[in-house]
Amino acid sequence: MRLIIMGAPGAGKGTQSEKISAKWNIPAVSTGDMLRAAVKEGTPMGLTAKSYMDGGQLVPDEVVIGIIKDYLSSDKCSDGFILDGFPRSIPQAEALDAMGVKIDAVLSIEVADEKIVERMSGRRICSSCGASYHVAYKAPKTEGICDHCGSALYIRDDDAAETVLKRLTTYHNTTEPLKEYYAAKGLLVCVEGQEEVADTTAEVMKALSKFEA
Ligand code: AMP
Repeated sequence: MRLIIMGAPGAGKGTQSEKISAKWNIPAVSTGDMLRAAVKEGTPMGLTAKSYMDGGQLVPDEVVIGIIKDYLSSDKCSDGFILDGFPRSIPQAEALDAMGVKIDAVLSIEVADEKIVERMSGRRICSSCGASYHVAYKAPKTEGICDHCGSALYIRDDDAAETVLKRLTTYHNTTEPLKEYYAAKGLLVCVEGQEEVADTTAEVMKALSKFEA
């Protein structure tokens, strides 16, 4: 199964990717996670990416296309994958097509902008393994501590309210046109994001069940 998961920032792409990854035993590939890792390591690519990310803008295509190309050609992806956060623009989708990557389905998680702003203010991320939490909807067992690895949780720089609004504008202007792009190819499946993570997961699994072998 080769799947793309899309949705506004904070729609729950990462959380649902984890669920699909566990159920279907395929890797979830998040360009956002890869870029944050590069920022943390202070690589030249990370330094370039940081200024765009902090400003709520997309990192230039050549950077993300390069990292995704390397990853998809690795053995890990031979039985399928979930792309979380890529492509995020029509040129990126065209680059994926040009790589000869065949996609089976594109899942879009729909959440209203007002809800997104509310959700982002409660998001917390593990400083070590990158796991994502929410103070109200997906709280860690111990406040401020990752359930998986015990490291401290932090608030992403780009989750600041002003940056979230910029990211939403970028999403609507640049990423959302992908829905039409993939609908025209008969690949688009839309799911309404629910209040509870488990309810969204149920909707996602129902929508994807028709792709199960
Ligand atoms: P995410 O974790 O998916 O919300 O991504 C965080 C930030 O990383 C985005 O706001 C962008 O600045 C950058 N980013 C992630 N994926 C891409 C992509 N496919 N193209 C350009 N920028 C990206």
